[in-house]
Amino acid sequence: MLEIKNLMVFYENAIAINNINMKCQGEKVTGVFGANSAGKSTLMYTISGIILDVKKKEEMKGGERITVLGNITFEGIDISSMKPSERAKKGIVLCPERRRIFAESSTLENLKIGGYLATKAQAKKTLDYVFTVFPALEKLKGREGGFLSGGEQQMLAIGRALMAQPKMLLLDEPLLGLSPLMEAMLARAIRDINKQTKIAILISEQYARPILPIIHHGYILENGGAVLQGSSQELMENPDVKSAYFGL
Ligand code: ATP
Repeated sequence: MLEIKNLMVFYENAIAINNINMKCQGEKVTGVFGANSAGKSTLMYTISGIILDVKKKEEMKGGERITVLGNITFEGIDISSMKPSERAKKGIVLCPERRRIFAESSTLENLKIGGYLATKAQAKKTLDYVFTVFPALEKLKGREGGFLSGGEQQMLAIGRALMAQPKMLLLDEPLLGLSPLMEAMLARAIRDINKQTKIAILISEQYARPILPIIHHGYILENGGAVLQGSSQELMENPDVKSAYFGL
């Protein structure tokens, strides 16, 4: 469904993504694991196209030079130079790191804003689904985003992304800063979303433990390069992964 070939991203002369080749299958969950500054967010920005906006802004203000090389195809079409809005219309929807919900809008308003690409019927159906998979959000419909807990904000961010009718959902560190209980709950919800809706999911995390069991295939990033890949089982049994991510 999504194929990345020889991807390289440089911020000025520093390399953030170093020749990554990667495939994300339709209807499956793909994981990307790596430490701080391994390149996870850069990869998500590059797939969603946001990096091109950042690049343009930097060029306009005479700031740092961002270079993106390589190819990204989605459903067989080269999207490498497509604007983020065009990629969203094609079904690639990013749920960014640290949630970025609208703090002064209510939960329901946040969700409705996410549905700008949807028809009325789709929006209604998806809203019902969001409240099924995250029942807590229905009770918090009227509450301002800024007054939700970290976990509730993350549910809202994922719900809002679902409202945009994704074919592929990009989740950048969705568990960041959450309690172990909330991590487990969200990991289960993410697995359910994939099973029930068949939306393909690409998920990045620093700590693999809660997510590794729910992926179909995963990649380990180090210094911008994909150093290892395998199925959930293969990665869980790999001694290097065990010691780096499970402290074993
Ligand atoms: P984290 O878990 O801390 O979010 P990450 O894996 O998402 O890390 P990135 O944010 O993609 O990593 O960063 C990859 C590398 O690119 C890092 O060395 C980072 O310092 C650098 N980098 C990221 N954004 C910029 C930028 N706008 N300008 C310069 N360097 C950047």
